[in-house]
Amino acid sequence: MASAAVIGGGPAGSMAARLLAGRFDVTVLESRETSGRPVQCTGLITEESVRMSGIRPDILNTVYGAKVHFPGGGTMSVRSDRPKGVLVDRYDFDTRMAEAARDAGAVYRYSERYTGAEFFPDKVSVSSSRGRLAADLLIGADGHTSSVLRDAGCPAPRFVRGIQVDIKHRMEDQEIMELRVGSVAPGSFSWEIPFGDHTRVGLCTRWSAGPPSDHLNRLLVKAGLDGKEIISKVSGKIPIGGVERTFGDRMMLIGDAAGQIKPVSGGGIYPMLKAAPYLASAAFRAVDEGDFSSKKLSAYEKGWKREIGRELKRGCTMVKTYRKMSDEDLDRMFRAADTPEMRSILNDIDLDAPSKVVLKMLKRPALALRLAPAVVRAVI
Ligand SMILES: Cc1cc2nc3c(=O)[nH]c(=O)nc-3n(C[C@H](O)[C@H](O)[C@H](O)COP(=O)(O)OP(=O)(O)OC[C@H]3O[C@@H](n4cnc5c(N)ncnc54)[C@H](O)[C@@H]3O)c2cc1C
Repeated sequence: MASAAVIGGGPAGSMAARLLAGRFDVTVLESRETSGRPVQCTGLITEESVRMSGIRPDILNTVYGAKVHFPGGGTMSVRSDRPKGVLVDRYDFDTRMAEAARDAGAVYRYSERYTGAEFFPDKVSVSSSRGRLAADLLIGADGHTSSVLRDAGCPAPRFVRGIQVDIKHRMEDQEIMELRVGSVAPGSFSWEIPFGDHTRVGLCTRWSAGPPSDHLNRLLVKAGLDGKEIISKVSGKIPIGGVERTFGDRMMLIGDAAGQIKPVSGGGIYPMLKAAPYLASAAFRAVDEGDFSSKKLSAYEKGWKREIGRELKRGCTMVKTYRKMSDEDLDRMFRAADTPEMRSILNDIDLDAPSKVVLKMLKRPALALRLAPAVVRAVI
């Protein structure tokens, strides 16, 4: 049987390991003692992502819409009768993903760090903190600080920084999350997500905006949540803008290591789940044809980009435009957009493909014309 070394026991590594285990002897190397800890995620994913994951994670809450706060105090609420997202506990999610991969036959080696790889015509020799391992295929699922990406000679992606606290506070409306745009979270946005007696409050900022904790403290004051008991705190980096290449000779990358992140929301679970079947089918074809060359494995990148590449590219354009907008531009846009027609379009937003609502707006010339001045003023 062919063999694969998967680096990283997070959700991307576990998904890849589970799918490959049918045709490969799979060994997962994970530097931590367990999958999923420490948590570095909000855990907001769509029901579609839960379905694709093939597991049944604990759902902490279901949200049906959002109230968006603009810098000048304007708010726009959208609410749907269908769930927009579910809140999962990432430790529970990652643990179940790893369990599913083990059930499929993958072997996990925890507390074992990948340190490098040497590529030969007939194998890849993987070095770790505990020795060496020979495999036919190396999968880099080692997250945003991917060593496999670095060893493949690809430059690291750009990042935004995220920080989040769970606080003891019950939001009045348990079905709606609150989002804030503008300088409260420079280059990105902030969130308040209800889950029973607790609220998950966080934000992302562009790298140059200084320590995210300062912004978080200001957010808590602005949202009237300062002084509440903090139960837990997480922080982390999110790669934005993709990486140069997600395959090489005997090597493929998946998840954050591959820059598979929705640029608008910073969500990585959905794109990774979409990419995984293409990784498996490229690997299976490589086994069938005894050819693990980069040319053969390029089918992986072609496949996942065909599936989600356009949405990720559009998301990058949306983020670039958004980042050029000042608080005044955003308020101008809010005043132009605060109409029943706009709200009805936004009600349909799909968190996995947010660019679709922008395309819908552009198809309504009257609406596009109302929004254009604020956007154009910011961009030129
Ligand atoms: C604050 C914040 C909030 C977020 N919120 C959301 C959200 O709501 N929804 C969403 O979809 N996404 C969210 N994300 C993004 C999401 O967390 C990531 O996209 C997701 O974790 C990527 O999974 P992964 O398996 O690729 O990487 P990871 O989850 O980072 O897993 C990589 C694993 O590789 C291991 N590893 C690293 N180096 C080595 C090595 N050398 N040897 C062995 N093992 C190694 C690590 O220990 C880790 O376990 C958020 C991110 C942040 C920072």
